[in-house]
Amino acid sequence: MFTAFLIKYAEIGVKGRNRYLFEDALVHQIKFALKSCDGKFLVHKTQGRIYVDALTEFDFDEVAARLQQVFGISGICPVVYVEDEGFEKLCQTVIDYLAEVYPDRPKTFKVAARRARKDYPLDSNEINADMGEAILNAYPEMRVDVHHPEMKLNIEVREKIYIYSEVIPGPGGMPVGTGGKGMLLLSGGIDSPVAGYMVAKRGVKIDAVYFHAPPYTSERAKQKVVDLARIVSRFTGPIYLHVINFTDIQLYIYEKCPHEELTIIMRRYMMRIAEHIARETGCLGLITGESLGQVASQTMASLAVTNEVCTLPVYRPLIGFDKQEIVEVSEKIGTFETSIQPFEDCCTIFVAKHPVTKPNGNIIRRHERNLEEKIDELVRTALVTEELIIVE
Ligand code: ATP
Ligand code: MG
Repeated sequence: MFTAFLIKYAEIGVKGRNRYLFEDALVHQIKFALKSCDGKFLVHKTQGRIYVDALTEFDFDEVAARLQQVFGISGICPVVYVEDEGFEKLCQTVIDYLAEVYPDRPKTFKVAARRARKDYPLDSNEINADMGEAILNAYPEMRVDVHHPEMKLNIEVREKIYIYSEVIPGPGGMPVGTGGKGMLLLSGGIDSPVAGYMVAKRGVKIDAVYFHAPPYTSERAKQKVVDLARIVSRFTGPIYLHVINFTDIQLYIYEKCPHEELTIIMRRYMMRIAEHIARETGCLGLITGESLGQVASQTMASLAVTNEVCTLPVYRPLIGFDKQEIVEVSEKIGTFETSIQPFEDCCTIFVAKHPVTKPNGNIIRRHERNLEEKIDELVRTALVTEELIIVE
């Protein structure tokens, strides 16, 4: 019975002269999201509102669920469009609407009319009063409560008449694309997909880089990262995934540096390479799934040493999260099941039994000098042999 959705968005972020940027980005993201749904849709902006009109049959649950993945949407109102065939006919339509949408009638209600077309014979107060009366006559068990109604019935008189009352909650946040672009270091673990999701929720478009170490990490491990990127892309839109072959760099570090410093030095090279790609592709920051104290490489001392190789800001949205809290988000966004598939990631293979937890920057820098002979060449080769996968 619903033929459209009215999209509500939080007013924050849409103030002033940037409003249209916010709205255009939201329209763009909604169009992208609906591509995966059956049916044809028209997404349009009319008088400061965004509507999704269904032009064909569609699966209501599928579309509602998909819209719930579009950041910037605070609420999704399913709308019925009816032709204007006089007020009496409208009252009957509303009564039928209530019977169908609310088999258990709400106890209290309020009618909120808006007359966008001034040639309609009743003004909005008259519509409220007369429609309220018609509803009370049809359903004497209901009561009017203008302050805290259980159901607010909206009636908008435009070319057609729009009826809506339900609000399905949206994900909130800001439309992706309004906040610049960030480079996500995406591994096959639980954390980094959640980190990407969280930063994207603030309006940031996401590109990603994955460090692959064949044959120590398998094709399946890489496929798992692609699968994770695909799940995250449901929220973010297409993700450009840069796959970097890290094997030779890792082996070289393994050969030249103390093993308990391997992880930290490797992480410094990951950050350097990620930053390089970020700059080339217009990203304004790096994003990682690091969380304080989770592992040796995520103590404050380790993060300080990792961080010092970057000049771009590094966003770590999970920094204060416990593992359980991260798992909850990953279950909510649908990455958890994929993340826990048992494919090795490149860190676990070379990992030392007792990695340093309080690395000293001077010592690490000194040991990195052992790499001077070949490392620049290896990094260059890794960059030129990158594989770009567009995930959507
Ligand atoms: P995750 O669950 O995200 O893999 P983790 O708990 O395994 O995180 P680490 O392995 O120390 O933690 O990695 C910390 C962060 O570094 C990750 O969240 C991710 O952003 C990045 N990272 C680690 N390994 C890789 C990789 N192979 N490719 C790209 N980024 C990586
Ligand atoms: Mg990991």
